[in-house]
Amino acid sequence: MSDTIREVEKKIEENDLDGLLYLTGLIHGHHCVGSTMGVIAAHHAMKKLGIRESTGMEHIIAVVETNSCFSDGVQLVTGCTFGNNSLVYHDYGKTAFSLVKRNGEGIRLSRKQDIGDLLKDRRPEALSFSKLVNERDATPEEEARIIELNKEHCYNVLEVPAEKIFDVEEVKVDLPGYSRILGSLVCPSCGEKFMENKAVEKGDELLCPDCGGEYGALDWDGIHFLCKESE
Ligand SMILES: [Zn+2]
Ligand SMILES: [Zn+2]
Repeated sequence: MSDTIREVEKKIEENDLDGLLYLTGLIHGHHCVGSTMGVIAAHHAMKKLGIRESTGMEHIIAVVETNSCFSDGVQLVTGCTFGNNSLVYHDYGKTAFSLVKRNGEGIRLSRKQDIGDLLKDRRPEALSFSKLVNERDATPEEEARIIELNKEHCYNVLEVPAEKIFDVEEVKVDLPGYSRILGSLVCPSCGEKFMENKAVEKGDELLCPDCGGEYGALDWDGIHFLCKESE
């Protein structure tokens, strides 16, 4: 097990949410209320299910319902990531996630509808992070200041108990089976190797999705199923 995972596990054990948020900042790039909520939710779920190790070997699965900041907190704390197949993504656009064991039993935390200003920065000098993201017209100095102010605020948000922010319910989720290491094919069009389960059949050829023109793509707006015009 890597030292990094041990460090995360130790911080979960010791309820060191500050430390978990700090580590989340290393992958997320900044501190924001969304990723902070992810840390709070994931820490609560790990404790509640009594999970002590997170090896990213699909013994536990995180089912996230948003591809935003929140889910980076979840990935860091649970160890279930985009790359290790322990993360399942449901494109619902909700600040929610479920942590489930291999049999699909676990808990779902979803943002309460009535938290009002609970997570709001009340300092007069506080500047909106969403303004920074939506308007994109801040100078580098303003951007740095907003990021710094938000960082301070996020460590205060960590004081709010999970039950005040999230509804917690027991769930049973239908999970896909364990992942398998699949064989590769070489695309006859571009000559690149690709996973055999992704092949697009065109005539009597098996093309990679890029050349075959049929694939799913995930971007900030969600999952899209794309079908390129054939030339
Ligand atoms: Zn963020
Ligand atoms: Zn190709």
